[in-house]
Amino acid sequence: MTEQPVLQMNDGHRIPQLGLGVWQATDDQAEAAVAEALAAGYRHVDTATIYGNETGVGRGIAGSGLPRDAVFLTTKLWNADQGFDSALRACEASLKRLGTDYVDLYLIHWPMPRKGTFPDSWKALIRLREDGLVRSVGVSNFTPETLDRIVTDTGVTPVLNQVELHPAFQQRPLKAVHSRRDILTEAWSPLGQGKALATGAIAAIAAETGRTPAQVIIRWHLQQGHVAIPKSVTPARIRENAQVFDFDLTPAQMAAIEALDDPAGRIGPDPDGASF
Ligand code: NAD
Repeated sequence: MTEQPVLQMNDGHRIPQLGLGVWQATDDQAEAAVAEALAAGYRHVDTATIYGNETGVGRGIAGSGLPRDAVFLTTKLWNADQGFDSALRACEASLKRLGTDYVDLYLIHWPMPRKGTFPDSWKALIRLREDGLVRSVGVSNFTPETLDRIVTDTGVTPVLNQVELHPAFQQRPLKAVHSRRDILTEAWSPLGQGKALATGAIAAIAAETGRTPAQVIIRWHLQQGHVAIPKSVTPARIRENAQVFDFDLTPAQMAAIEALDDPAGRIGPDPDGASF
């Protein structure tokens, strides 16, 4: 794999733009996928407490032979652990499962505005950063309103917001908020959970470029300035998804993907919806 692009975060730390996602992988699958990815040149892994595979992720990193500081590791605070003291305890438990004494990035997984604990959870993340258990603090699935609340409360701006983002759901209004606040946009389900791969416009660009549909979509994310964390546990796909640093999409190809945006394209839950 050619040298990976990295982005500068608002706290001065750097994040590799491409990471491996491991949602819906068991410990054993995650361990093998992380080992495969690190051997293929990935230097960034995205897990979460709720995925139940932090132990496997930690083993994959430890077994790679890479020094810990060569790998950018993210995990997330689960909803049930929100609150100041419980967030501190949850992070310590995650570190134990991951077999490391710090993570590069710790995220609040969902804001859950109706429960109302996200402001205290954010203060706990800041404490964890001060104590050196996490290098950078960020959020996931935050809305403009919930972002505004934590920044107003604390003066600390999350380094990034990890949100659903793929060709059929491009989050333009939220991205404009991120730009104004110097928050990076990280795309979850960057391939639309695989659904985006069968889109006609993507297939056409794949044919034009001699790349696969997954590579075209990941390349689009990189050129949009997103951090992207495609998931696979299949070795050939893990490698394929990282062969994206040696070609460019043209402005016309970028525009053809931008035209796929659909207000009804959301796959996952609405963070403002009734279940939160
Ligand atoms: P994704 O968009 O990454 O799609 C993954 C699926 O696409 C795979 O299961 C496979 O079926 C297919 N795929 C991957 N590479 C392929 C290839 N080269 N060719 C053909 N098919 C391929 O979906 P995802 O897993 O939902 O999202 C990625 C990561 O984002 C997750 O693993 C997780 O780390 C993160 N995530 C975070 C949240 C959140 O709330 N913060 C929610 C969902 C996912």
